[in-house]
Amino acid sequence: MKKKYLSIMAITIAFILSGCYFAQGDKSKEQNEPDNKVSVEPQEAEDSEEKPENPEEDPIEEIDLSIQPNELGEIMILMYHGIGEEEKDWQRTPDNFRKDLQYMYDNKYQMISLNDYAKGEIKTKAGYTPIILTFDDGRQNNFNYIEKDGELVIDPDCAVGVLEEFKSKYSDFDVTASFFLNTNPFGQSEYTEQKLKWLVDNGYDVGNHTYSHLEMETLDSEEDIQAEIGSVNNIIKSYLPNYSVETLALPHGSNPKDAYAGSVLEGEYEGSKYKTIAVLDVGWRPAYSPFDTLTDFTSLYRVTASEINVDNCGMYDYFKSYENGNRERFISDGNSEVITIPKRHEEYLNMEMVGEKTVNIYEEN
Ligand SMILES: [Zn+2]
Repeated sequence: MKKKYLSIMAITIAFILSGCYFAQGDKSKEQNEPDNKVSVEPQEAEDSEEKPENPEEDPIEEIDLSIQPNELGEIMILMYHGIGEEEKDWQRTPDNFRKDLQYMYDNKYQMISLNDYAKGEIKTKAGYTPIILTFDDGRQNNFNYIEKDGELVIDPDCAVGVLEEFKSKYSDFDVTASFFLNTNPFGQSEYTEQKLKWLVDNGYDVGNHTYSHLEMETLDSEEDIQAEIGSVNNIIKSYLPNYSVETLALPHGSNPKDAYAGSVLEGEYEGSKYKTIAVLDVGWRPAYSPFDTLTDFTSLYRVTASEINVDNCGMYDYFKSYENGNRERFISDGNSEVITIPKRHEEYLNMEMVGEKTVNIYEEN
């Protein structure tokens, strides 16, 4: 608790003084023996060929410590809005978006879904850092159909078009994103169903961005909040009956009054229930690992995906901080059932999130 309070203070002070450079390298000072290995059934071997079941096999032995896995490092949840011709607040050009994706590919970032993050299911390959792409407001330039030679095709310059371009360019790039929707997802209402189905069939996710895009803080009853969230949930459900909307991006990053916070996480509208596992704020720093005790899934930090008007808190500022070692990024150990962390972070490991997974703590040289 105290630590969290301190880091909030640190954020505030960092803002006031000089943008948002503050290192996060002082995590653990504990010197206790790491005796919290949770034994668990070994995962299926990767090299497929039927291996005899061996209960003695230790998944930890297959972890390559030379890559310095750090599964308590930070994960960026990038906040995009529009993709359009002009670079401005809340809009990135298609070419700048391409530049972002190329940077991620070249610097060992791999996209994961927000849903997997919230469940602690991180399947990123060894040595790589998960990164999460989110798009707010369900703009048409996120997912636009155009006609080409009499056929309906995805606009190559809309967000989905650019993402798909990278998917086909690099077969080893895990391409995914979450789109946060209001009442009229992606404009072109004649194609709403087609678009939503296409997204979930192709590995993308959709989340809730509320009915009226009001600041939650201004709402004064549980009913109002449930209507704001539940109605969008029901709209998406009407197109995707088997899909659960589990994530919410707060309009303007505004949290509800404490008394109504529960309605954001769970509620019901017109007979249909919803449950939220991840709630996104607007700014201004990377999120913690899902296994970090500092993570609050009801109020997750995001980083603005922009290079203008970001006051040293934009995505490239953080990319640079990871490059020069001023901050620590999550480095996957390559096995989603093993959580590997340097010993100095041990006290931050949230065992509730770890659950049945195996914990692997190591001393750095
Ligand atoms: Zn919005």
